[in-house]
Amino acid sequence: MPWYRKLHWQIILGLVLGLAFGILAAANGWSGFTNDWIAPWGTIFINLLKLIAVPLILASLITGVSSLKDLRALSRIGGKTVGLYLVTTATAIVIGLVVVNVMRPGDTVPDSMREQLQATYETVAEERAETALAMDRGPLQAFVDMVPENFFGAASNNRNMLQVVFFAIFAGIGLLMIPRRTAQPLITFFSSLNDLIIKMVEIIMVVAPVGVFALIAGTITTIAQDNLDQVVELLAALGYYCLAVVLALGIQTAVVFPLMIRTLTPMRLGAFFSNIAPVQLLAFSTSSSGATLPVTMEVTEKRIGVSEEVCSFALPLGATINMNGTALYQAVAAVFIAQTLGMGLDVGAQAMIVLTATLAAIGTASVPSAGIVTLVVILESVGVPSAGIALIFGVDRILDMTRTVTNVTGDIVVATVVASSEGQLRAV
Ligand code: ASP
Repeated sequence: MPWYRKLHWQIILGLVLGLAFGILAAANGWSGFTNDWIAPWGTIFINLLKLIAVPLILASLITGVSSLKDLRALSRIGGKTVGLYLVTTATAIVIGLVVVNVMRPGDTVPDSMREQLQATYETVAEERAETALAMDRGPLQAFVDMVPENFFGAASNNRNMLQVVFFAIFAGIGLLMIPRRTAQPLITFFSSLNDLIIKMVEIIMVVAPVGVFALIAGTITTIAQDNLDQVVELLAALGYYCLAVVLALGIQTAVVFPLMIRTLTPMRLGAFFSNIAPVQLLAFSTSSSGATLPVTMEVTEKRIGVSEEVCSFALPLGATINMNGTALYQAVAAVFIAQTLGMGLDVGAQAMIVLTATLAAIGTASVPSAGIVTLVVILESVGVPSAGIALIFGVDRILDMTRTVTNVTGDIVVATVVASSEGQLRAV
């Protein structure tokens, strides 16, 4: 049995044991022990992955772009990739909107629970709203934010991945434009850095099952904080909303993506999904597409058979800008908040959500809980009070885990489709 297959089962085991331990810990008051002795191993594991995310993006994108034949190849592959990212994001949002309008989860929240939720999460919600509004400084701000003024500043913060992506593509284009002889030493350097990072990923993945166990156990005790009853109560009030999000994510992940693979590539669905399972499990456990990226790249190239050229361009870009799950979640959440507050959103407002959620998902950093911050921008655009995020805060972590799975699956699906259309999908 190859290592990633074994790994897949080991990660599932880590996840199930982490879940069981987390629930036991919350029920028996072992939160202190879990926080002191278990959770740190999860933090170390996720830090190891984050540690290599920036060098990986840099090395793989520079190698990816500079190894293309010419600028024409870049614009063709780049155009297809970005085009598919936008189309899948918009599709995900529309699915979210249909589900939330049909299920109307906002109508099921009792008034007393609504007031309690607003009171409990008022302060955090205000803080997040302030962060988001500080970010929103005019129509072109997203472009301004993409261009760093200092490379090291950009590379020193994982939230600035988009700036690193910008720099790497820019440098890759420059390398394509200078004589090959002068460019070659740098291309060799970055490609060797790329190989080194892939080896480091393999080493980190040896401890993935333990890391996943610790991450899940830590997450559960943090959410429950020795008070499981409160979590159960919250889930009862917001259960229907969670169900709407998960159902819509399920349609995107288990219907739309398989349809794309089936119709646009020669891959067998069973093989595709069983090979990407470790990536999905890791996305679920870490809630971060950035932290999952090293494994996404390894699996997509080695197990799915997407060429290095397409992988190294499409995946780092996808991890930063393509967030189908986040965009879908934001659309459902915005309408849910409006419904709970008794505000109707007409067709114009919902069309506005399609537009703003596409942009907000592009601007969302690939780290845990980033989606709830950019949700504020969407709420503002349709006139729903941003403090409304207080309503959904309590269940955000769980939904973050599920939407991140859709985010990474979307990246792999698009990379596979692009590779297939370019004749760069090898049979594995
Ligand atoms: N956690 C998500 C990701 O990394 C972003 C979000 O908060 O929606 O893909």
